[in-house]
Amino acid sequence: MTHFAAGGSLDTPETLRYADTVAAARKILIIEDERDILDLVRHYLEKEGFRARTAADGTAGLAAVRQEHPDLIVLDLMLPGLDGLELCKKIRADPATALTPVIMLTAKAEESDKIVGLELGADDYLTKPFSPKELVARIKALLRRAERREADHKPHAYGPLRLDAVRHEVKVDGREVPLTAKEFGLLEQLLRNKGRVLTRDVLLNSVWGYDYHGTTRTVDVHIRRLKQKAPLLDEAIVSIKSVGYKLREEDD
Ligand code: CA
Repeated sequence: MTHFAAGGSLDTPETLRYADTVAAARKILIIEDERDILDLVRHYLEKEGFRARTAADGTAGLAAVRQEHPDLIVLDLMLPGLDGLELCKKIRADPATALTPVIMLTAKAEESDKIVGLELGADDYLTKPFSPKELVARIKALLRRAERREADHKPHAYGPLRLDAVRHEVKVDGREVPLTAKEFGLLEQLLRNKGRVLTRDVLLNSVWGYDYHGTTRTVDVHIRRLKQKAPLLDEAIVSIKSVGYKLREEDD
């Protein structure tokens, strides 16, 4: 064991208690030329249960982005070689990393640059000197947001039915089912809440919007059409008398 090696003192039960599920196995790439800051950030991230990778200049940073496929990048603005803004532009331009969250680190004197950084696609920024705790909190928030976005983009499946929200497409056995925007919205809500009863009001608000003044009967009409267009939903969508609808769990 390496208890007495440099950094070994960090491996105390204390550090384990702080590790949580957001951090678990997530890989963070830190691109920073100031050794002290690099070490400090790495120390804190590892203490939180993250896997940390580092690069000390822009060129090495870009290579690391491409090789390591990090879950998030902490990027210093002023770097030798490629600077943080150039690097951020390249990260955003590459489809493989376009959605990777980036937190930019800036010095006080670079205040105006950080605005440019956000315009170029950084998701957040921190001004030096910053508290490592604050950095960790921001990292976790961005990772949670990215996780939700990923879940939103994943197609929903229900037996032979697939709903792809990004393509705005519903298929049954690979064949497209043409739905109106409202029918699509209703089905998406039901799929997101499989097994849960959704009241007509909830469906009306989430699909038609709060400023819609129609009646809850509208929901019934659209559910009926949905069932006609995709007959497998006829049994799957259950009407709960005077309450609303639910999509049966598939193994019910
Ligand atoms: Ca720097």
